[in-house]
Amino acid sequence: MPLPASLPLASVLLAAANTATPTVVAADGILCDLTRTLVGNQAKVICLIKPGTDPHSMALRPADRQNLAKAKIVLLNGYNLTPALNKIRTPGTVVKVGNIAVPNNPVKDPHIWHDPANVIAMANTVASSLKSLFDANGDSVIDQRRAKADRVLVSLGGWIGQQIATVPEKQRVVVTGHRTYDFLAKRYGFRELPVLDDYTTGGTLRPSSLSAISKSIKASGSKAIFPESLPPSKTMRRISRSSGVPIAKQVLFGDGQAPGKSLVQTATINVCIFVNAQGGRCDQETASQLQQRWAAI
Ligand SMILES: [Zn+2]
Repeated sequence: MPLPASLPLASVLLAAANTATPTVVAADGILCDLTRTLVGNQAKVICLIKPGTDPHSMALRPADRQNLAKAKIVLLNGYNLTPALNKIRTPGTVVKVGNIAVPNNPVKDPHIWHDPANVIAMANTVASSLKSLFDANGDSVIDQRRAKADRVLVSLGGWIGQQIATVPEKQRVVVTGHRTYDFLAKRYGFRELPVLDDYTTGGTLRPSSLSAISKSIKASGSKAIFPESLPPSKTMRRISRSSGVPIAKQVLFGDGQAPGKSLVQTATINVCIFVNAQGGRCDQETASQLQQRWAAI
């Protein structure tokens, strides 16, 4: 259709841009799934960090920079989960979701989403950030989706407590390399023993630290050591040999979403791996009900 001669081309392009689906970058942590769940098909959500990538050490690729240049809003987990995102260039509004949603975080631990109550707070922050993009209709769609998400997350919070209660009390401990599950541990009353953070500087394992780590793992009552990746690093294998405590056969996904999994799947999978390895019994059936409820939002 020919353009009306009286309308300058620039304003036509501007109008087209305003009605087009906005682009939102959901950078790291569990924001990819959370944002897509809340916004539905009203925005194009680009997830910057591929599931399974280590956010602490990732570097931005040219494609990431291009996506950031198109974004109306850039949602970051915050608390320095992904140092590479500290200096990004984007015309969009940058929101550090975690810093707003979970201001009470004395050690500035970025792994806040392991407590579902924090995910509810993050959903609130994401929803209010997205609202600037839409009209009243669009906003009410987000509100409805957020209310459904909240209900699943409240159920998830209760479900985690029930699973952890099946673990014998002296085995309610997660032995990791780096501190990751502090929010989960604090909410549900178990211990995290991040041996590399507690006993080494920069992860370097001296003979004296190896012996201190072995002692603390033996004393912890843990039946397994949870590595950050499989195959486990040389350091974690040495720690396992020296303490006599085996490495768990399945890896926990502590830094974001598990590959191909939603945030609720990731959370339930993590809890089941932990609970089963420590002598409890995880209820798979109720876990899949939660996963389905989340997927149906
Ligand atoms: Zn981490």
